Formats: sequence, C-alpha cells, structure tokens
Amino acid sequence: MIFDQSKTRRSDGFRGFRWGRDTAWLATLGAALTAVGAAVAVAADGPRVMATTTMAADIARSVGGDRCEVECLLAPGIDPHSYRATPRDADRLARAGVVVASGLRLEGRLSDLLERLGKKRTPVVSIGEGLPADRLLEAGPGVPDPHVWFDADLWSRAPGVVAERLAALDPAGAEGYRARATERAQRLRQVHDEARRRLATVPGERRVLVTAHDAFRYFGRAYAVEVVGVQGTSTEAEAGLADINRLVDLLVGRRIPAVFVETSVSDRNVAALREGAGARGHAVTLGGRLYSDSLGGPGSGHETLEAALLANVDTIVAGLGGNAASANGGAAR
Ligand SMILES: [Zn+2]
Repeated sequence: MIFDQSKTRRSDGFRGFRWGRDTAWLATLGAALTAVGAAVAVAADGPRVMATTTMAADIARSVGGDRCEVECLLAPGIDPHSYRATPRDADRLARAGVVVASGLRLEGRLSDLLERLGKKRTPVVSIGEGLPADRLLEAGPGVPDPHVWFDADLWSRAPGVVAERLAALDPAGAEGYRARATERAQRLRQVHDEARRRLATVPGERRVLVTAHDAFRYFGRAYAVEVVGVQGTSTEAEAGLADINRLVDLLVGRRIPAVFVETSVSDRNVAALREGAGARGHAVTLGGRLYSDSLGGPGSGHETLEAALLANVDTIVAGLGGNAASANGGAAR
C-alpha cells in the first residue's frame, strides 16, 4: 500500500541533477520569495483560483505565484473520472475567480458542471483544450485521451495556457504570470530529458508497462515505453475476462517481470493478472505504485509533476530491471 521508500528515495537524485549547482542560489531566492509572499499574501491582487485536479493545481500555483490563492477541489489520490461533485463543490467552483481544469473530459462527471459554469460568469481554463491538438492521442474515435501530464514536454505548454488566461483576467499581473510560466516550462522540459535518460537504461524488450488503466499512453509515447492498461482510458469502464487473459498471455509470452498499480485506482485487476500469470508458471512481481491521475499528497515529496514523474520513472526502472542511478551520472548514489 505504501509507496516503496527504497524506490522513492532514489528520486532524491532529482535534487541533484542539472540545476543542482544552482540550489544554493535557489534556496536564497526561495527564502526571499517566501518573505515577499508572506508580506503580500494579504494583498494578493490576482483572481482566486479553484483548480479541479492536483495536476491543474500544481500548474496554477507556480504560475499564480504569490499573486493568486489556489485551492484544489479533488484531494490527492481521488480518481477524477468517477468523482461526483457535491453541492458544496458546485458552490466553491461558482464562487472562484477562475477555475483551472485538467480538461479533455478527465473530470468525467464534473465536466458538464464545468461547461455550464464556463457559460455563466466564472471563467474556466481547460488546460488540455489549450494544448496543440495535433499532439493529442485518441481514446476513441474523435475522443482525446485526457492523460496528457506525464509527457512533461507536452505538459510544459500547460503553464503558458494558464498564464495567458490569468493575464487576460488580471492584466496588472500579466508580466509575472508569463515569467513564472516560462520558468516552469523550462523545468518541465529538463525533467523530460532526465526521464528519457533513466528509462533508456531498461532493455528495450522489457520496456513494457502494464498498469490498471490506460493513464500512461502519453508517457509511453514520450519515453519509448510500450504501455498496456487493463481497463481502458477511463476507470469507469469494466475490464472483462478476455482483457485479463490477453494480458496474461503478454506477461507470460514476453517474460515481463513486473506489473504496476496506481495510487488513484483499485488494484483488483492487477491482482488478477499476477494470479493468472502465476498459474501458468511465470511469477510477476508488483513493481510498485505509480502516480496516475493524481500527484502526491502533502509531505509525500511528490506534490509537483516533476517529482511525481521521476518517482514513477524510478519505480518503473527498478521493476523492469534498469538502473536509474547509472543514467544520473552517479548523482543518486
Ligand atoms: Zn485516468
């Protein structure tokens, strides 16, 4: 149940890579910003932001900086596909200055509410809809796959999407929104390169990610990992016995050593896979728990997209027999 510490600790390499030499400087800057933030927190002039998912809140916080107060509707670990809004949620959304959503109907049952809200007086920024359409994958005919965030290069466009909307609503803060978005986009692109390096240490034939639902297709495309989900792109669909059998064939046939579970999705189907493969003489280990449709909660150390992505990468690399530390220039040793 608990995220394997020995694996997550490896993501500490995160602190040491590339911009590591600048951390002392960043720490000073951070302290200065905290001081400034504390001083102006009372007078935050930007709009009050209500984000739907932890991924949207993460981007809204970094772009809004100390100018916007950001709240997140869905707690970490909550599945956005099946979440039903309570009357209190509807009220919180309607009273926000602006709503920042992941979009592309990730917020399955909330989507209609968000659409209605957007038509009234609460502006709704939908990050997914602001990304380049030609880089979206399809979940079905004409239906985009909403799990865009674990392609950090594609997601590096997200801060810009949010910054432009905030700038339009609050022109006095525009310069700050854009500057913070540019900085965040750069960090996301650096993490993208780092994730590629680490995953490249897994031998090609074993670079297969079997998970509970199809949340990792963008991840697979971005980092050259073959991705197979038991449940399709929404957790709302039921996996059939035929799907399970097909996947057991794949695990046994290709001697895939591990399958993975997700923090926001039930483990039932993944357990069925392991049992099926075991019955046919191929032991499959549980590679660990991956962040899929939620980032880490407070204190997890994985509250940002960058940290959650690298935690996933290290879990996958360890489960499939790669060596993240070797891609790190030894920084994690
Ligand atoms: Zn999902």
